[in-house]
Amino acid sequence: RPARLPVALSTGAYEVVVGSGLLARAGGLLAPHLPSRRVAVVSDAAVAALHLPTLRDGLAEGGFDLRAEVLVPPGEGSKRMSMLEEVLEALLAGGADRGTTVIALGGGVVGDLAGFAAAVALRGLPFVQVPTTLLAQVDSSVGGKTGVNLRAGKNLAGAFHQPRIVLADTDTLLTLPPRELRAGWGEVAKHGLLQGPLWEWCEARGPAAMAGDAEALRHAVLESCRLKAGVVVADEREEAPEGGRALLNLGHTFAHALEAECGYDGTLLHGEAVAVGLGLAASLSARLGHLSQEWPGRVMEHLASVGLPARLRDLPRGFSTEALMRRMRKDKKARDGAMRFVLLRGAGAAFTTAEVPPARVEALLRDEG
Ligand code: NAD
Ligand code: ZN
Repeated sequence: RPARLPVALSTGAYEVVVGSGLLARAGGLLAPHLPSRRVAVVSDAAVAALHLPTLRDGLAEGGFDLRAEVLVPPGEGSKRMSMLEEVLEALLAGGADRGTTVIALGGGVVGDLAGFAAAVALRGLPFVQVPTTLLAQVDSSVGGKTGVNLRAGKNLAGAFHQPRIVLADTDTLLTLPPRELRAGWGEVAKHGLLQGPLWEWCEARGPAAMAGDAEALRHAVLESCRLKAGVVVADEREEAPEGGRALLNLGHTFAHALEAECGYDGTLLHGEAVAVGLGLAASLSARLGHLSQEWPGRVMEHLASVGLPARLRDLPRGFSTEALMRRMRKDKKARDGAMRFVLLRGAGAAFTTAEVPPARVEALLRDEG
């Protein structure tokens, strides 16, 4: 039996369902939550080849009318305005009407793009997330943020559009390239550090999860979603100036700078950048006296144990300290050039600050690089 996690938002409650064999039972799982049996699936070509047949059968079994199957090329490049337009045209050409639910089958790219399409098609269609990467199951499918990239930066056009239900079928993770699976663990480890007891579980069971242990994966997805859902419910639209959703940026000030320096060329996956960012955030916290000295090593040791890069020097290329500093000052979360960091006092005790002296960050990057 799958686990069901309620997400009680002011705009309506929905469930995250986590378990195995969910695609094949999609019809029965979705029917009670949707206004009609008319649906359209948006996916990427790689995911569709592996998992769309199972979802199609599951929908057919529930008596669903699948009006359109819209496939985009795999990869971040599909998260752009011109692709949004193509998806919208294909949905409407397929006969989507106001009662038609858009189902996103895929990773975060598909979820963000299809969710944005659902938010604006006919001024808003019901939406369902069927995340198929670990990153999407533990992070992007919960929270309601959708959008595409602009030349000006990542995720700069978008909308909040909450799903009617999220089906996280852990079986789909078994076909993921191992590097993509490991990258998703970067966000699981982040959630562990934010939550507390989940961190110790990660240390104990992370390697098993990365080896494909179904029960460990299920627990990681469920507890990650529980943490993220709790944070999102407390701060639905990212308005809490401190704490709230901002805490989910643990490791991300560094990660965004690393990714931006690579020009999103695939050298670094987001979760890999986050892993290095977690190591740096722990080190910075310890250097500033917030966190005891054994913690940075403990964080890095865990990341290494699941095959993630833990330090700058583990990455396939070098980074100039000046360039990273420049990027961090320009991060969209920075205000008036003051870098924002999420720091730790321990597992389960994170806080945000804009008060870190730049010289301390610079010294850390020089010593670590
Ligand atoms: P992705 O969607 O590009 O998927 C990664 C790769 O894995 C793709 O090539 C895809 O075709 C393939 N794939 C997906 N599922 C598979 C499966 N089950 N088996 C085999 N291959 C599979 O990337 P991602 O890491 O899932 O998501 C990254 C995106 O998520 C970024 O655009 C990021 O901005 C976004 N994101 C959004 C939020 C949010 O709150 N909305 C949060 C975090 C990240
Ligand atoms: Zn992230």
